[in-house]
Amino acid sequence: MLAIETENVVKQYRNGVQALSGLSLSVNAGEIFSLLGENGAGKSTLIRILTTYLRPTSGGVTMLGKNIYTDAAWIRSQIACVAQQTSIDMHLSLEENMLFQSRLYKIPKEEVGKRMEKLISDFGLGRYRKYPVSSYSGGVRRRLDIALNMMSKPKILFLDEPTVGMDARSRNSMWEMMKQVCNDFETTIFLTTHYLEEADSLSNNVCIMKNGKAVKQGTPAKLRSLLRENIIRLQFVTGDEAKEHMGEVQNILPQEEMLIRNSAVIIHSHDAQSDMERVISFLAEHHIRFQGIESTQPTLEDVFLRLTQREREGCI
Ligand code: ADP
Repeated sequence: MLAIETENVVKQYRNGVQALSGLSLSVNAGEIFSLLGENGAGKSTLIRILTTYLRPTSGGVTMLGKNIYTDAAWIRSQIACVAQQTSIDMHLSLEENMLFQSRLYKIPKEEVGKRMEKLISDFGLGRYRKYPVSSYSGGVRRRLDIALNMMSKPKILFLDEPTVGMDARSRNSMWEMMKQVCNDFETTIFLTTHYLEEADSLSNNVCIMKNGKAVKQGTPAKLRSLLRENIIRLQFVTGDEAKEHMGEVQNILPQEEMLIRNSAVIIHSHDAQSDMERVISFLAEHHIRFQGIESTQPTLEDVFLRLTQREREGCI
C-alpha cells in the first residue's frame, strides 16, 4: 500500500513563485523515505501540503488512500510532524508533555498510561521523564519530541532535518530511534535531510528534487548505480589550490567531467586506472603538492550533486 502519492502537484504562491511545478512521487507504507534537494527546491512547500497546512494549486495528493482535498481532517489525525523548531514545551517534563499531548489528541484515559510507558521504555528515555525538557541538550530534546509525537500513534511521521547540527553520537541515537519508529511501530517516516550519508544508510527510497520537480526517485543503491563512472577524488590542502589546479587536470583529461568539492577536485572517470596514472604523473612532473588521490564508487552525494548541479536535467 502507498502511504503517500502525489501526482503532478503544482503550488504557486500569491507572489507568483512556483514552488512546485508538477511533482509526482510515491511513498510506500512502512518505509523510511528521504526527500533531498537544495535550498529552494520546494521541500518545505511539499511538507506543508502533505501535513495539510497548504492547499496545492493543482494536482492530486492521496495519503493513506484518502484524498487530501476532501479528507484533510482525517489525514491530520493520522500523521505527526516534528519540525525544526521543537514543539515540545520546555518548561514541562517529558511525562507532562505526553499527558498534554494525549489530551490534544483525545487519547482514551485507559490508553494514556500504557502508551506513555511503552514509548519511554522502548526508546530508553526513563532518565528524562521527570525533569523539565529545557535541562537537556538539543539532541535529547529532539528525541523527546519524536517520542511525544508518537503518543498519537501516527501512521506517517514527518521529520524535517531531524539531525541538523547534531554531533556524531546524538546522530547515531537519532538514527536508531528512526529505525525503531519504522520497524517496531510500523510508522512510515518521511524525512528531509541535507546529510546524504544519512539518506543513504537509513532510507528505503529517496527522491531528489530540483526546481519543484522530482528529478529521480528510487532506492539509494539504484540511484548510486545511475552513475556508471568511478569517482576520482584528488585532494588538495586548500580549496584555492584545488581551484588553481583543476584547469590543468581538465587539460590532461579533456573527456572527463569534473567539479570542485571543498578542497578536492572530483573527477567522473570512465577509466579510473589510466586517468589516475596520468594525473599522478602530471602532478609529480610539475611538483604540484596534493594531499591524496583515490578512486571510489560513487556515493549518493556524488549522484545528488551531479543531478542538482548540472544545467541539463536527466543527463544520467
Ligand atoms: P526548500 O524547503 O526546498 O528550501 P521551499 O519550499 O521553502 O524550498 O521554497 C521553494 C520556493 O518557494 C522558493 O523560491 C521560496 O522562496 C518560495 N517560497 C516558499 N515559501 C513561500 C511563501 N510563503 N510565499 C512565497 N514564496 C515562497
